[in-house]
Amino acid sequence: MRDVIALLKQIREIDEVYSRQNQLAQAIPEETSKRKKVLNVFLKEFKAVQETVTNSKKEADKLDMDIKANDSQIKKLEEQLNYVKNNKEYQAILKEIQGLKQKNDALETKIVEILENEADLKEKLEKKNEEKADAEKAFAKYQAEKQAQLEKLQAELAELDKKRQALLEKMPIEVQRKYNLLSQTQSGAAIVTVVNGCCTFCYASLTPQMELEVQRQEEIVYCEACGRILVTSD
Ligand SMILES: [Zn+2]
Repeated sequence: MRDVIALLKQIREIDEVYSRQNQLAQAIPEETSKRKKVLNVFLKEFKAVQETVTNSKKEADKLDMDIKANDSQIKKLEEQLNYVKNNKEYQAILKEIQGLKQKNDALETKIVEILENEADLKEKLEKKNEEKADAEKAFAKYQAEKQAQLEKLQAELAELDKKRQALLEKMPIEVQRKYNLLSQTQSGAAIVTVVNGCCTFCYASLTPQMELEVQRQEEIVYCEACGRILVTSD
């Protein structure tokens, strides 16, 4: 029986390492997706500036079209001047032409403002693009590192699992069965240590008799409260 208990202790140690490594492996996708969110902030900022540039171009184009429409209207009105019947009509058309010319002046001023602003925006866009590229590069590096880390952990876990299986197979079938059953429940710890007279899984106190039995290592002792296999922590 001492052999079986020695095996149980070895398995418990493997379980502990397995659980730790497994937690690290499980955390990797979440860590990566958190990091990806940071990258998305850069993408959003870049897109926002990009959109502003596009909108400002559209705005300038629209104003330009307005100017052209006004120009063609001015041309028409100027032709009409040749056919006016009286001075009143002549003055009215002149006034209209004047108004359109003033409008165009204002539109042109606006376009100049937009174009000036566009230079600033383009500079900003370039900066954002650089930031985005840097962030993408950093993320790609991070992702590759995390992927390598995950693969390493997975290989380690597979190795630990193999070792555990080999040890389990050396044990009586009923112990194997019990172990497998306990492993599938809750935290998965099937074999736990006794510290200060308590089961370290459920913290139930052991009777002095049970504690002695655990220390003797002559038979397998199960926690009366949680049913886990109890071993000494040495
Ligand atoms: Zn317990």
